[in-house]
Amino acid sequence: MRIKQHKIIILSFLIIATILSLLILSHLFPFDSRSIKQYLASKIIYDRDGGILRVTLGEGDVICRPIGLAGVGDWVVKAVLAAEDKRFFQHPGVDPIAIIRAIGQNFSSGRIVSGASTISTLVVKLTGPRRKRNIFTKFIEAFRSLQMEGQLDKEEILTQYLNRAPFGSNLVGVEAAARRYFGKSARNLTLSEAALLLGLPQAPSRLRPDRHPEAARRRQKTILNRMFREGLISEEELQSTSGQTPLSSAPALPFHAPHFCDLVLKKSGPEVRESRTTLDLALQNIVEDILARDADERGRLGISGGAIVIIHVPTGEVRALVGSPDYFDPISGQVNCAAARRSPGSTLKPFIYGYGLDRGLCGSDTILFDIPVGWRSYRPENYDREFRGPVTVREALNQSLNIPAIRLARKISIPALLRFFRSAGMSTLDRSAGDYGAGIAIGDGEVTLLDLTNSYACLARGGEYLPYRVFESSDKLRGRELVSREAAYLVTDILEGTGGLWSRIDNPDDLSRPMFAGKTGTSNGYRDAWALGYNPEYAVGVWLGNPDGRPSPSLIGFETAAPLLNEIFRRIYPRGDSPRFEVPEGLRKREVCSITGLPPNHNCPARRMGYHIPGITPSGICRVHEYDGSKMVEHWPPELADFLEDKGLSYRSVSTQHKEDKLKTMARLKIKSPLDGESFLKITGEGTFNQMILLKASGGTGRDIYWFVNGVSIGRTRLGTQMFWEIEDGMTTIACTDTDGNMDAVKISVR
Ligand SMILES: [Zn+2]
Repeated sequence: MRIKQHKIIILSFLIIATILSLLILSHLFPFDSRSIKQYLASKIIYDRDGGILRVTLGEGDVICRPIGLAGVGDWVVKAVLAAEDKRFFQHPGVDPIAIIRAIGQNFSSGRIVSGASTISTLVVKLTGPRRKRNIFTKFIEAFRSLQMEGQLDKEEILTQYLNRAPFGSNLVGVEAAARRYFGKSARNLTLSEAALLLGLPQAPSRLRPDRHPEAARRRQKTILNRMFREGLISEEELQSTSGQTPLSSAPALPFHAPHFCDLVLKKSGPEVRESRTTLDLALQNIVEDILARDADERGRLGISGGAIVIIHVPTGEVRALVGSPDYFDPISGQVNCAAARRSPGSTLKPFIYGYGLDRGLCGSDTILFDIPVGWRSYRPENYDREFRGPVTVREALNQSLNIPAIRLARKISIPALLRFFRSAGMSTLDRSAGDYGAGIAIGDGEVTLLDLTNSYACLARGGEYLPYRVFESSDKLRGRELVSREAAYLVTDILEGTGGLWSRIDNPDDLSRPMFAGKTGTSNGYRDAWALGYNPEYAVGVWLGNPDGRPSPSLIGFETAAPLLNEIFRRIYPRGDSPRFEVPEGLRKREVCSITGLPPNHNCPARRMGYHIPGITPSGICRVHEYDGSKMVEHWPPELADFLEDKGLSYRSVSTQHKEDKLKTMARLKIKSPLDGESFLKITGEGTFNQMILLKASGGTGRDIYWFVNGVSIGRTRLGTQMFWEIEDGMTTIACTDTDGNMDAVKISVR
C-alpha cells in the first residue's frame, strides 16, 4: 500500500511540475510554426500538358513530392492513424493514455520499451535537429508538440507527417513513395497498398517492400488488423486484402528536354517546388530527333554543335528548345547553345528593312543601290563580291545583299538601329554603337538563338513584341509595338513570297509542303549557320556550329541549317496545312513603275501593282524615266549613274530572278597547291617514308587560313605560309577558308 501511495505522490508531483515547467518554457522558448513548413522538396518541372519533364533531388538527395491532405486517398489517412497514432484527432499533441501506459510499462520493466509517440511528436522529431534518444528528448518533443498543436490544426500536422516520413531508399513523403513502389499517386492507392506503404516509416530500410517483401508484408498485416480493430475498415474490406500486393517495376525518373529544364531551374526561385512550363513534348521530340539524326554526318563535316528553338507566336511561349545534339556528350553536350552568344550573320537584315519600311525610308519595291562604297577604312562587300547596281528591297533582302543593308542601316543611324534591335529582345547586343559600327547590319555583334527566334516571332505576330516565356501563366499578355502590322507584313511577304527561302529550299512542285517566311545567315569565317522561319503559329530557329567557335566550310546557313528548318515545318504540318498570314487592313495596293517601285509617270516603260503603307511609304512620282525628244532616257542619281556607265549598262531590265548562292565559287582565296584534279601515286612497301603533299594558298584576308580534308579540320597556316599533309588513298577534297569567310576547294586523287 505504501508503495502505491508513493507512486501516486510521485505521479502527481510529476504532473504538476510538468504543467508548471511547460508554462515557463513556453514563454522562454516560443514555438515558430513557420520554421517547420518548408519541405526538403524535390523540384518538379511539368510540360504544358502536365506531364513530368524532370524531378530534381531535394536537399540531401531525397526524392520528395509534397502533397496536400486533399491529394491523398482515404486509405492513406486511415492507415497512418492505425500505424502511428489512433487517437491523433482526440489528443492535444501528446497522448495522455499512451503516456500513462508507457510510464507504467517502463516502470515495471525498468527500461524504456514504449515511446508513446504521436504523429505530432513524430513531426517535431522529423523537422527538428537530430537528438540523442533519451527521456529528455522525449520530453522536448512532447513539449514542442503541445506548442505546435496550439498553432497548427490537425490536418496541417498530418500533412506535415505524410510529406516528411521516410519510406526507404531516398524516398521522403507518401507521394514520392507511392509513385516509386506502385507507380501511382497516393490518391489512388488501394487499401492493401496504403497499409503496406504506411507501415514503412517505422523502420524504412528494414521494411522496404522491394528488398524485404516478407517483413513488409508482416507489417502490412499488423496494420490491416489494427485498422479492422479500430473500426476503420469492415470485415469484408479486411478479407479483400488477403492476396499479394504487387509492386510496380520502379520507373526511372523522367529526364526530358534537359537544356530547357536547366533554363527553367535557373529562372525559377529556390523556393519554387513545381514549375508548370510551356514546353510541348511532342514538338520537343520532333526537334530533338531532327537535330540528333544527322549529328554523325555533320561531325564528319567538322560541325559538332547545334540548337533549335520553337516559340509559339500568339503567346511567346517556348514550346521546344534543344541546346545540343546530345546532352550527355561528355565534351560539350551540356552547353546550351540556344542561349550562347553567337555572331548572327545576315539574320538581322529583316529587322533593318522592317524599321526602314515602318519609318518610310523605303517601300518593298523601292530601289536600293548595290554599288561599291567605302567609309574611311570600312569597305563592305557582298558575299560574292559582285555589285548589282539598282535592286529592289525585296531582291536585296532575299539575296541577302550586304551593301544595301549597310546603306539603309547608316540612313537609320547605327545608335537608333541598335536601340531597335535591343527593343526586339536582342539583349546580348550590349556594346556601344561606336563599337559595332555599320557592320552590325551584317552580323558584327552577338545574339542568342533564343532571343533571335523570339524577335522573329515578333515579326510573325504582326510587329508586336512579347518577351518569350518558359512558365505557363494565365496573365494577360501585354505586348508592345515594335513595328506596325503593315511593315511586319511587308517583311513577311518578302521572306515568304517569290524568291523567299521557302521557295528555294525544297521541291517547288510539291504542293503539300508547308509555307513559311524564312531567312538564313552565315557568320564571318564560317563559324555559325543560321536558319529562322515563321508562320502565324510558330517561329522556329536553327543554329549549327561548334561550341568552341571552330569554323567549318560546311557552316553555311542555306546549305546546312535551312534543310533542318524546312524539315521541322514539314514534320509539324505533314499535310502542308500551315496557317497563312492575312494582309493587314492598313496595307493598300497601288500602281507603280516596274523598275523604281514608285508611282509611275506617263513615260515609265512598264507598270505593275505593289503594296504601300498610305502616308508612310515613299510616294513621290518616278523621275527616272523620261523622254528626251524621241528616245527614253533614265535619270539615275549620279553615284548610280556612274556605276551603270562603268558597267556599260544604261538601261536595266526588270529582273525578278534571284541569284543562287555563289559563295563557294566566287571567293578570291585560291589554293595554289595541290592543283584541282591533280593525282598522286602512293608508293607502298618497306622503307618508304610518310608521303606528304604541300598545302599552299594565295589571296584571302585576315590572319589565318584554316585547312580541311574531306570536311575535317587538319590545321591552319598564317597567310603566306604553307603546311604539309600526309596523303591518304582515294578521292580527297581539300578546302581552306580564311577568317573573313573566303574559301576555295580542290579535289585530288591518290592511287
Ligand atoms: Zn519609272
